[in-house]
Amino acid sequence: MRVKIDNDKVRNDRIQKVEEVSDQSVYKCYQCGKCSAACPATPEMDMLPNQVIRYLQLGLDEKVFAANTPWICASCLQCMAVCPKGVDLARIMEAIRMLQLRKGENEIELRTFDKEYLERAPQIALISGSRKFLSLA
Ligand code: SF4
Ligand code: SF4
Repeated sequence: MRVKIDNDKVRNDRIQKVEEVSDQSVYKCYQCGKCSAACPATPEMDMLPNQVIRYLQLGLDEKVFAANTPWICASCLQCMAVCPKGVDLARIMEAIRMLQLRKGENEIELRTFDKEYLERAPQIALISGSRKFLSLA
């Protein structure tokens, strides 16, 4: 059976925001899987890099935002180097981290994050989020 996906219907506001922040289109990906084959961090990930894109294509951003994959991604750019479609997955991962830290707001307040979450989040993501959006209020 052939299933046709209407991109405009499945692309919700959060997926649009991921695309806007990362400056990447998730619909460029044709699921060859080369990114996941090249990624050195997949043993620690609960969702493969190409699956992150696939779920976003299908409008299943809840699954992506619940996965540990964007937090495990080390921005090493191996995936981008091998992608035949020029998709910069590291930027997509960074956008997902940033949107989670911002919680939909245009700023973050570190005091509102619980200790367990802060211990799990890579320092680089917190520092980058803080630089861009820290609330000192
Ligand atoms: S390498 Fe590129 S085209 Fe292939 S699955 Fe990964 S993101 Fe998609
Ligand atoms: S940038 Fe992230 S997703 Fe891409 S290969 Fe490196 S660790 Fe894996």
